[in-house]
Amino acid sequence: MRATCATIHLGALRENLRRVRELAPGARVMAVVKADGYGHGLERVARALEGADAFGVAGIADGQRLRAAGVSQRIVVLSGLDETCDLAEMRRLRLDTVVHHEAQIDALAADRDPRPLRVWLKLDTGMHRLGFPPERARDAYARLRALPCVDKDIALMTHFANSDVFDDALTTQQIDRFDRAVSGLDGERSLSNSAGILGWPEAQGQWVRAGGALYGISVVAGRIGADFGFRPAMTLATKLVAINRVRRGEHVGYAATWEAPEDMLVGVAAIGYGDGYPRHAESGTPVLVNGTRANVVGRVSMDLITIDLRGHAGAKIGDPVVLWGRGLPVEEIAQHADTIGYDLTCGITRRVRFVEE
Ligand code: PLP
Repeated sequence: MRATCATIHLGALRENLRRVRELAPGARVMAVVKADGYGHGLERVARALEGADAFGVAGIADGQRLRAAGVSQRIVVLSGLDETCDLAEMRRLRLDTVVHHEAQIDALAADRDPRPLRVWLKLDTGMHRLGFPPERARDAYARLRALPCVDKDIALMTHFANSDVFDDALTTQQIDRFDRAVSGLDGERSLSNSAGILGWPEAQGQWVRAGGALYGISVVAGRIGADFGFRPAMTLATKLVAINRVRRGEHVGYAATWEAPEDMLVGVAAIGYGDGYPRHAESGTPVLVNGTRANVVGRVSMDLITIDLRGHAGAKIGDPVVLWGRGLPVEEIAQHADTIGYDLTCGITRRVRFVEE
């Protein structure tokens, strides 16, 4: 069996939810579990986060999985009605839908089933991805309110583009545009993602939508989850499968991009981009060998990485290598691979074994 293994720390997920509640005491928490729970496993994350008030998913298929797993809380399809507009299935599964586009209101208007669906009306206040422009908010709201198949309790939401920059003018503008667009309209408000919860307490509304924070991952530049009281929910680890003596001046790996500066030992660990380890992790990206730091050298290949073992004299085949998680922040690895932590945890491939603890 391949040694590569992702351990999901269920206690950390629970603890992170508790921390989100502490940071947003007046709000209910929608746990965002898109992309298979940010790569941690949808059902196991939902089980660990059974204390969440709702779950946010990308599409109906995730809602089906959650209901099949026994989730009873509200489930919100964040991307809204898709091209299938399967309203019967949405009703059967009791899924809430986001409405961000006129065509979705048209689809609801054509629906003859009177059983009301719960709707979250999404406004685009500056991200320019999904949502009605603020000046269309009242009209969209009124249209929805008039439909018999829409529950009268319409929630109002927007999404931040740059809330991880805590003094960003765009976020202030987004909050202001949202407040003005929805003023006087009945309905619960939801603005903040994880970074919003951390940096913009004035924008918590009645619902916060936490993703990364629950997995212990920060997207705030230069800060890790632990800086805000979160714990990593995933540790990715493998083992050394070979240790080679390399002479000074010899090259290691594809394209011979790294040259040994002296006679030394290079370890080979069973993980590569075929497992979701980032191919763009540069030489110098840290790993933990037997719990102490060492650096990746040379190119990451499909199944293997190579590691500078200077300073790890006692290392032997079979010794543990941690790629990220406890003791090695995923945010740091992401920085070496020019991406964000979410991208790394979402990218773990199917051949990686998952265990829970
Ligand atoms: N809300 C919406 C609409 C989202 O699309 C996402 C994730 O992308 C989130 C909330 C959660 O964001 P984060 O993981 O940064 O907390």
